[in-house]
Amino acid sequence: MKYEKNVDLTSLNTLNIQSIAEYFYEVYDVSQLIEALSFARANNLGVQILGGGSNVILPSVVSGVVIRMAIAGRELKPINSSIADFIVGAGEDWHEFVLYTLQQGYPGLENLSLIPGTVGAAPVQNIGAYGVEVKDMLTEVTVIDVESDGLEQYTLQNEQLDFEYRNSLLKKNPGKYVITSATFRLDKHAPLKTTYGDIAERLVDTEISALTVSNAVIAARKSKLPDVLDIPNAGSFFKNPIVSHDKLQQLKIKHPKVISYKVDESSYKLAAGWLIQEAGWKGYRNEKVGVHAKQALVLVNHNHGVSEDILGLAKKISVSVESMFGVALEIEPVVI
Ligand SMILES: Cc1cc2nc3c(=O)[nH]c(=O)nc-3n(C[C@H](O)[C@H](O)[C@H](O)COP(=O)(O)OP(=O)(O)OC[C@H]3O[C@@H](n4cnc5c(N)ncnc54)[C@H](O)[C@@H]3O)c2cc1C
Repeated sequence: MKYEKNVDLTSLNTLNIQSIAEYFYEVYDVSQLIEALSFARANNLGVQILGGGSNVILPSVVSGVVIRMAIAGRELKPINSSIADFIVGAGEDWHEFVLYTLQQGYPGLENLSLIPGTVGAAPVQNIGAYGVEVKDMLTEVTVIDVESDGLEQYTLQNEQLDFEYRNSLLKKNPGKYVITSATFRLDKHAPLKTTYGDIAERLVDTEISALTVSNAVIAARKSKLPDVLDIPNAGSFFKNPIVSHDKLQQLKIKHPKVISYKVDESSYKLAAGWLIQEAGWKGYRNEKVGVHAKQALVLVNHNHGVSEDILGLAKKISVSVESMFGVALEIEPVVI
């Protein structure tokens, strides 16, 4: 297998940022991955793993080796009559995998329907939606430590992955681990999570099953989020900030309509989209980039914006939200 040089990544990232990879490999199995990693090491080059490109902000040139993860494979391993393990290649499409589990009769992942990207990237930021996070079902991942001598595969268990809200050991150590496969344990009798407002509304008058919940999630997402093929974007651009109980009370005095969700006794998540909207950014656009008209949390690339355009707008938004609410916003996608 040989690398390609100067490969255009514009169509390989959902923000459609024009970007060139100095060296590029697409890997379909573990031996090809090791070959690409060995090439990078032999030539003293950095490595950047790319899945579906739906959560990255790319520079105009990615120096070193970009490895596009395309390892396929799904194995269903029954544990007993109710529970099964799904062992899935890192390059599999996430949404296709979710639909596959539902077709096999195993609920659990339906609330994570239609999230773009690959299975291997899902644990990186512990993807989540509608009250469910990938950490709830993921049991382990197989990884290669890029810095290890032998580049051998080994397993990291869920407890070792240091999962947090949109964060994990993998995101905290960028470039160190490559996930080659992930295992999910699902239970045919697991309860469905249908209380999230948007989903509950769509399930009125419908027979409730994992499939109808998945369909409700798909419909809700389609109504709110721009299709990346029509309007390039990277989904939620900022994390929902977490504040103390005292800070929330203080905010409520000046902004009684502030949207918050309880995390635990002492902390609350604020809806970042609401803060951005209140700061007046919803629907804003300059000649290149902007804020989606229906969802203020989504930054969009209207007209050939590059990393600096997107990050420049993000900075302006953060500054204005901080001065209005005294709350700092953190970017969710990975800035390369
Ligand atoms: C329209 C839209 C909606 C979205 N909605 C949600 C949502 O509801 N919830 C949510 O959590 N996210 C959401 N996202 C973000 C994104 O879909 C997820 O973060 C997804 O998991 C990214 O997958 P990817 O394959 O595209 O990763 P990429 O963007 O290619 O990579 C993201 C990061 O993961 C690393 N990575 C990728 N594959 C591997 C691997 N095999 N091993 C190690 N590191 C790897 C990359 O190096 C990079 O740092 C949304 C994005 C879009 C565009």
